[in-house]
Amino acid sequence: MPLDFSLLPLKEYDNFGIVTSLGCDFNCAFCDTTHHWKHHHYERKLDVIEAEILQLTQNYGIKKIGLLDDNFTQRLDRIRDFIKIVKKIDLAWSITGFISANLEDDLLAEMGATGCYAMFLPLDTGSPRILKSINRKINLPTAYKRLELVKKHISQVRTNLLWGFPTESLDEFKQTLAALFKCYIRDIEVTLELVTPLPRARLTHEYFNQLIENLNVWKYSYFGLIDIKDNEKVQQIIKTYPRLFPFQFRYPTPEFEKKVERIQGLEALAKE
Ligand code: SF4
Repeated sequence: MPLDFSLLPLKEYDNFGIVTSLGCDFNCAFCDTTHHWKHHHYERKLDVIEAEILQLTQNYGIKKIGLLDDNFTQRLDRIRDFIKIVKKIDLAWSITGFISANLEDDLLAEMGATGCYAMFLPLDTGSPRILKSINRKINLPTAYKRLELVKKHISQVRTNLLWGFPTESLDEFKQTLAALFKCYIRDIEVTLELVTPLPRARLTHEYFNQLIENLNVWKYSYFGLIDIKDNEKVQQIIKTYPRLFPFQFRYPTPEFEKKVERIQGLEALAKE
C-alpha cells in the first residue's frame, strides 16, 4: 500500500525522501546495513512506489524526491523500471548508491534526462589496502572514471571519504587526502569524516573493547552526532552504555592527533 501522508505538513515542503528498497548485497566491515536486514534485500512494489510519488506530487506539490534506499544502484533493472515511472511525471530525483562499474553511459544519460539531478556515491577511503581490509569492493582508478562519467550526465555528484580506520597508517590517511583532491579537481563534492562505529558493524564488534570516547571531536564525525561536549549528564549515560551509543566513540587509529592536525590545516587553508 502507498503510505498515507495526510498527517504530515507536506505542503510546506517541495522536497521529500522515500525508500523503495532496503538492504544491500555488499558487506562492508564498517557498515551494519547488511546485518540489520539479515542479508536480505527487500524491494517495494513498483506500482505502490508510483502511487506514492503521484500522491506526493499531485496532492502536495512535491517537486523533488530523494530515494533514501541503502543502495539504489545495486539492481540496474530496478533503475530502468524506476525511470519508466518518472518518465510519466515531472519530477527531480536524487539517489544514494554504490559506485557500480555497471553504471553505463546510456543508463546515466537516461537518468539525467528523466530528472535525476544528484547522486551520492561514497568512495569511503583513498587507500587500496584499507578498501580491501574493510571488504569495500571498489577499484579506485575505475571509481574515478565512473564518477567522471556520472558527472557528464548528473549535475550534482557527491562522495565521501572516511578516515580513522583501526589499522590506517598516516601514509594511508594521506592517500585519502589525495583522493579528496582527486574528487575536487573533477568537480565532485566531497566530505571527509571520521569513521563512526555503527552498532552491528563487523569493525565495531572486533574493536568494541578498544573504542575511544569521541565526545570532543564530534565535529569530525558523521552519522548525525550531536554535540555533547558540554553536557556531562548525557556524557555519563553514553559512557555507561557504550553498546547503545557506539557512534559516540571512535576506533583506535595510528597517529590520530597528527591526522586531526592535518585536517585542521586543510580547514585553515580553505578559509584563506
Ligand atoms: S557501505 Fe554501502 S555498499 Fe557497503 S554494505 Fe553498507 S550500504 Fe552496502
